Amino acid sequence: MTLVAVSKAQPPASLREAFAAGCRDFGESYVQEALPKIAALGELAAAWHFIGRVQTNKARDVAEHFDWVHAVDRPRVAAALSRARPEALAPLEVCIQVNISAEASKGGVAPGDALQLAREVRGLPRLRLRGLMGMARHTESREEQRAQFAVLARTRGEIDAAGIPLDTLSMGMSDDFAAAIEEGATMVRVGTAIFGARAREDR
Ligand SMILES: *Cc1c(COP(=O)(O)O)cnc(C)c1O
Repeated sequence: MTLVAVSKAQPPASLREAFAAGCRDFGESYVQEALPKIAALGELAAAWHFIGRVQTNKARDVAEHFDWVHAVDRPRVAAALSRARPEALAPLEVCIQVNISAEASKGGVAPGDALQLAREVRGLPRLRLRGLMGMARHTESREEQRAQFAVLARTRGEIDAAGIPLDTLSMGMSDDFAAAIEEGATMVRVGTAIFGARAREDR
């Protein structure tokens, strides 16, 4: 189980503190905010996860500065990331985002479209397809949280059955990571439960 400390809207000093406490994986959602932080913390042996929506015009920055991308949701973005991934670096580790909550406001492909995108991503030389990422709709009900994460686990099973093994299920945030772990999460992305409330709540 990997804990990705979601550090968006947190200053570099907070990331250093988390690193000192043992965090080695950091998640950021905004390229412009993340790049100066990654540069400022360059001496730390940390892995950087881009967990936001990738815009095609930011694909190069993401491919050059991050180790992981969690929210690949269309072939065009996957191709742009692969093209831009520097040869000197290992292939970019990627997850396909699946819309498990069926909310229009959340990104990701429909569960039924994930296999097709997985096939396309697998054909790209500079990406390494690791798994699936999902975000549950907010609910206090542990059962409803679990039912949504089960969709991601089931989708992984279907892709696996089609001959594409995936070792990563990136699911679970501060409010629902326990349910995600019960459904087999291998990575949880936790922000406020580690760092406290973000100053800007849109972030
Ligand atoms: C902000 C964010 C998180 C962390 O959310 P918290 O509720 O602060 O734990 C996780 N995943 C994604 C994609 C996010 O944008």
